[in-house]
Amino acid sequence: MTVIVVEGCAIATVDDAATEIADGHLVIDDDRLTAVGSGPAPATDRERATHRMDGAGKLATPGLVNCHHHLFQWATRGYAQEATLFEWLVALYPVWQHIDGAVVDATARAGLASLARSGCTTSTDHHYIFPRQAGDLLAVEIDAARAIGLRFHPCRGAMDLGVSGGGLPPDEVVEDRDAILDACAVAIDRHHDPEPGARVRIALAPTSPFSVTEELMVETAELARARRVRLHTHLAETDDEERFCLERFGVRPLQYLDNLGWLGDDVWLAHCVHLNDHETARMGATGTGVAHCPTSNGRLGAGIAPVPALLGAGVPVGLGVDGAASNECGELVDELRTAMVLARAKAGPRALTARQALTMATRHGARCLGRDDELGHLSVGALADVALWDLDEVGFAGIEDPVAALVFGPTRPVDTLLVGGEIVVEDGELRTADPLTLAADLRRESARLRRVMPR
Ligand code: ZN
Repeated sequence: MTVIVVEGCAIATVDDAATEIADGHLVIDDDRLTAVGSGPAPATDRERATHRMDGAGKLATPGLVNCHHHLFQWATRGYAQEATLFEWLVALYPVWQHIDGAVVDATARAGLASLARSGCTTSTDHHYIFPRQAGDLLAVEIDAARAIGLRFHPCRGAMDLGVSGGGLPPDEVVEDRDAILDACAVAIDRHHDPEPGARVRIALAPTSPFSVTEELMVETAELARARRVRLHTHLAETDDEERFCLERFGVRPLQYLDNLGWLGDDVWLAHCVHLNDHETARMGATGTGVAHCPTSNGRLGAGIAPVPALLGAGVPVGLGVDGAASNECGELVDELRTAMVLARAKAGPRALTARQALTMATRHGARCLGRDDELGHLSVGALADVALWDLDEVGFAGIEDPVAALVFGPTRPVDTLLVGGEIVVEDGELRTADPLTLAADLRRESARLRRVMPR
């Protein structure tokens, strides 16, 4: 049995009482937290420790939860730099149609490694490009997540509405509806683990209103609910999408989802930038979650989600880095500061606090993924997914409030990252893969895809 004892650190537990401890301890037995408190650990725990960590000068938080991503996009960073979402998608679909297992492997490893170094212990991934002959791409990224050591909630994405049917993507990248539903069932059978402490859970995720038929939306929701897995999609990201929904369906994006039975506490939606007050209230009433992706929304000039109103309505609002082709940084801890400053730029300095940003990145993210019972907070009995941030160096020196130091201060790699009590990052270094190898593989696969870019 592994027993890890961490002492001498500040702790932001993000538990039900928002408990913060100036100088405290954590005790981890295998994959669970068995003690969280102030002062040194109990003598009995210190004696049976197999591994002791000095937390002096550090802040412990729950591991961050990334609620929205497209790992394959790590191979197409830096494209279409001044484009709107629709322009950017039209430029990139013809490149993405050439991805294969090697691209998915290199991008998943690189992307998940960057997430780990930025304090993320659980990530989702919305994978929606499945070229014929490419094999089981979800299995490839699940293997990558196991190797890097992160908890992983991949979403089986899908597109069945190509240009010829009035959608945005070229017909070459969309799939047949029956094939999609079969693949979704296979993904659940092969990979979904419903048990407590799960390392891998599947969600189903038709991609967006402008790339998916209503029939697929409805049948996917039926399948997900029959199999007790969660639902995810993009919604209300841009004005272009809103116009598309009004023209094609005669209603705004959220009403479209509502009509299809797609709102509920088993659903979380990426973006939700363009919601009015009525729609925000409807999100709260139905318990539907949001993956807020502020850097991506800024990069694509999409606007900024009404986060204070969503939080006020009781909506779980997690944070997401989104795909690295619209957020080349791809690091999750950055999104706390970006969420905070963009909310304030829009609505004043009280719009979002540093603590709210941390809660979104942990507790709310876990709620979006249906894991709030065991993830997103440092409580006795919760999974030992812990980020330890070193706040001793000059970049943070003199900021007495450690949570403010983390959110307002400079971005640094996490000092120590534990996932289920297993060490993934130590002394700021990834312990599960060689970053130089990851970079070389990513460069090679990015170059290979760039060669197919239409001129
Ligand atoms: Zn996205």
